[in-house]
Amino acid sequence: MIFQNTRAFAQELDQQDTLSGFRSQFHIPNIDGKKQIYLCGNSLGLQPKTVKNAVNQELEDWANLGVEGHFKGKNPWMYYHHFLTEKAAQVVGAKPVEVVIMNNLTANLHLMMVSFYRPTKSRFKIIMEGSAFPSDQYAMESQVKFHGFDPNEAIVELFPRAGEHTLRTEDILAAIDLHKNELAIVMMGGVNYLTGQAFDMKAITEAAHLAGAIAGFDLAHAAGNLHIQLHNWDVDFAVWCSYKYLNSGPGGTSGVFVHERHANNPNLPRFAGWWGHDEKSRFLMKKGFIPMEGAAGWQLSNAQIFPMAIHNASLSIFVEAGMENLRNKSELLTAYLEFILSQFQEHLSIITPKNPIDRGCQLSIIVKENGKKLFDYLEQNNIMPDWREPNVIRMSPVPLYNQFEEMYQIGQVLENYFKN
Ligand SMILES: *Cc1c(COP(=O)(O)O)cnc(C)c1O
Repeated sequence: MIFQNTRAFAQELDQQDTLSGFRSQFHIPNIDGKKQIYLCGNSLGLQPKTVKNAVNQELEDWANLGVEGHFKGKNPWMYYHHFLTEKAAQVVGAKPVEVVIMNNLTANLHLMMVSFYRPTKSRFKIIMEGSAFPSDQYAMESQVKFHGFDPNEAIVELFPRAGEHTLRTEDILAAIDLHKNELAIVMMGGVNYLTGQAFDMKAITEAAHLAGAIAGFDLAHAAGNLHIQLHNWDVDFAVWCSYKYLNSGPGGTSGVFVHERHANNPNLPRFAGWWGHDEKSRFLMKKGFIPMEGAAGWQLSNAQIFPMAIHNASLSIFVEAGMENLRNKSELLTAYLEFILSQFQEHLSIITPKNPIDRGCQLSIIVKENGKKLFDYLEQNNIMPDWREPNVIRMSPVPLYNQFEEMYQIGQVLENYFKN
């Protein structure tokens, strides 16, 4: 499509957008009576309007039923995680048995590492992207130390070539091959939080398996953003949070994927808790842990009803819209923002890959001079991107609630800024 930098053209794209109606299902931040142009869905997604009733329902059941809410509530708490499984599985391209919603992201990453990182003297290395989100760095480092290995030897961080901002897939695959005899696990993001680069999870998984290693992904910036096919890509495990693109509120719950082939593997060690125990005999309170089949067998604790009520309401929107439709719009919306930003090439550059298959919705921008000043100007003009030290502005137009016309308006504000 040939884009135009005019309001009429942007409005035309909004009119043709079959998903445009979803915007009205969200609370858009309102500053002095003006709707903000919100570009922080990569950090904290906006609140779906359905969330309040979903939470109120559980508050009422608690108020009216007390402990009996576990069985007599409208959505009995006893079975609560079941209500989310099918929907979450759809969002990440998995079978329901492969998915469970529980805990928080970093906790789940550790639980997965307990099961899947089983280093030996000869196979102990972890390949991860350099400059990964700090929590992932700390998690990997502490896992390595926990097993008595030296992080400097065990963790192989991959960095872009000199003069480049993002990793080449060929270099990732070559590194996996290079370390194949010592490699225990490849643990990467689905989308890098800083550059917005989407990794080729299918190719990386294939290469990891060929090397005799496990492939795990942190989908914090990928779930609800990319059209993911975890089952078909043969990924071993994945974890993600619900509060970024999945719009499920600050500190929201998290998701876990464990591939079906591990569903009933008795040799996988795990840290167990009563909620992972076979549901049929859980309340016999007997000695001897018998795990639930699949990802559900990794649960520790009884369901966190309130964050899950939010997440359940939000997941329904994703199921209704369809990840494939969302992704199609997302590619166009981000391409349009990229086009708008390209008008200001002399002042800024985009470090996110150009090819849509190598990115999600986010564009990461480096401003040639004084990026923080531009960031502040955008905020003063009712545009909410986010700022990452030392010099990156991230803009993440989200297909559920952002509009093409907003991208045009961003261009107008930038024009005012740079002409001064
Ligand atoms: C957002 C994010 C986190 C945050 O972890 P929490 O446990 O949810 O606080 C961790 N890793 C990555 C890659 C992230 O993007």
